[in-house]
Amino acid sequence: MSRYDFAAQRLFVEASLEAGARLTPSSDQRNYLLNVLRLREGDGVLLFNGRDGEWRAVLEKVARRAATLVAQVQTREQDHPFDLDYCFAPLKRARLDYMVQKAAEMGVARLSPVVTHRTQVQRVNLARLRANAIEAAEQCGILSVPQVVEETDLPNFLRSLASTRLLVFCDENAETEDAIAALRAAPAHDGVSLLVGPEGGFDDAERQAILRLTNVVRLSLGPRILRADTAAVAALALIQAVIGDWRKDPS
Ligand code: SAH
Repeated sequence: MSRYDFAAQRLFVEASLEAGARLTPSSDQRNYLLNVLRLREGDGVLLFNGRDGEWRAVLEKVARRAATLVAQVQTREQDHPFDLDYCFAPLKRARLDYMVQKAAEMGVARLSPVVTHRTQVQRVNLARLRANAIEAAEQCGILSVPQVVEETDLPNFLRSLASTRLLVFCDENAETEDAIAALRAAPAHDGVSLLVGPEGGFDDAERQAILRLTNVVRLSLGPRILRADTAAVAALALIQAVIGDWRKDPS
């Protein structure tokens, strides 16, 4: 892991970052910098935008309604996340916020809401997903904010899944065997998609449709039923450890 300054404040910005770049923080960001963090002129903050790495910037000029940040030196180069899609039946607000933050911390590259038969939440607030992902990235020093993908339904999701991707299907009905061995035995693949169901689980027709795909690992997360948010964190830990970027040389 590249070293980074954990104590420093970190801010996501949309603008390009390079030496000397001058940025005007949004009014929310200005409020955060000046009134929450209580930074003053000359104080430093770390900036990232998901493209140009991380930069140390100083707060140059502060007036009552304006502030300017000036990028000075790059502190870390841009990294590229392991190609891991987190595909999930959307949950209600508080659990969804949690799930998205944890998924970002676990290093997913994309957040893909998939509406299934028993999904109770039909409309997803994509801006809120993104805001949660950004917040987690700011707090944990992640430089690549997961991309938020428009929601789709399960049949469409299955149809559009590239045949080279591995689908890790968390199935609450799967017999508990050896999760690590199951992932190690996965067919050769280019990228991984993790699928976690809604609180009501998958129905039989859905289960059959998923299992008809060829590049699938049907994963049991043990003898207990987990809530979807817990299942997501457990599955992401297994995937990252066995076939993902918790290894020295991830493919
Ligand atoms: N209501 C369902 C449970 C759904 S849990 C039931 O009682 O059977 C929500 C989702 O979390 C599931 O669809 C699955 O994707 C995942 N999940 C929960 N526990 C699991 C387990 N033990 N093994 C694999 N996946 C699990």
